[in-house]
Amino acid sequence: KLSKRLQTIADLVAPGTRVADIGSDHALLPTYLVQTGRSPSAIAGELNAGPLAAAKKQVKEAGLEAKIDVRQGDGLDVLQAGEADAVTIAGMGGCLMAAILSRGAAAGKLDGVRELVLQPNVGEELVRSWLLDEGWLLTAEEIVEEDGRWYEVLRAVRSSDADALNGKLYDTSFLPSGIGQERGRRLLLRMGPLLLRRGEPLLGAKWAHELEKMEYICRQLSLSETPEAKEKEAGLRRDMDEIKEVLACLP
Ligand code: SAM
Repeated sequence: KLSKRLQTIADLVAPGTRVADIGSDHALLPTYLVQTGRSPSAIAGELNAGPLAAAKKQVKEAGLEAKIDVRQGDGLDVLQAGEADAVTIAGMGGCLMAAILSRGAAAGKLDGVRELVLQPNVGEELVRSWLLDEGWLLTAEEIVEEDGRWYEVLRAVRSSDADALNGKLYDTSFLPSGIGQERGRRLLLRMGPLLLRRGEPLLGAKWAHELEKMEYICRQLSLSETPEAKEKEAGLRRDMDEIKEVLACLP
């Protein structure tokens, strides 16, 4: 049985898609997808030897060696263009994830890929920015809570209308008017346009937790007298006020 986090990712993969799971570790996700028939075949990519061995063991034990190819390599290097319909990347930071996607896209590795399902552990805004800049349309956003942590799962697809639809998605006019366009856009990238628009009930709990962490950092910064610390604290406090303002006006 998959964890709630991995199950949420699996549920967002379109049935019938050949999936490449990058940074697969134990290959639990591709094993589940192929075992349940949701994916006809899969590639599990891993950079590091330990997790690679774990992935191979898992796939062998599941008797799926003919359908799941475990490959060692950095990011999307393991993939040939046209081999996968969907790419999943989960359980790493948004910065690394965006770097993997950028490098892979530049090498043409995403050419035949129609769907991305991404679960950044932190730095979600970097992933949303990448998707937006590269013309991917965000079609689903979920929040899952597991062991006291909140995870966001994003699904994006290619669409000839992506720019127009993303324009609507990232339109800030539904936010409190005082926030303004530029800051509004930053907040949408940070908090998730679909989550905010539907008033996702878990946003409150997730951001209460994040705000607590930000408050803690502010208190640490306030112990320092340097202008840099004061500036950082003021910036963080502004961010916190904006986040609270947005949360207060959710549908
Ligand atoms: N995707 C699984 C999940 O969500 O449960 C495993 C997440 S695990 C925390 C992150 C995995 O990514 C590790 O196994 C690590 O070795 C792998 N990894 C890190 N950087 C990578 C890269 N550049 N290319 C491929 N795999 C990478």
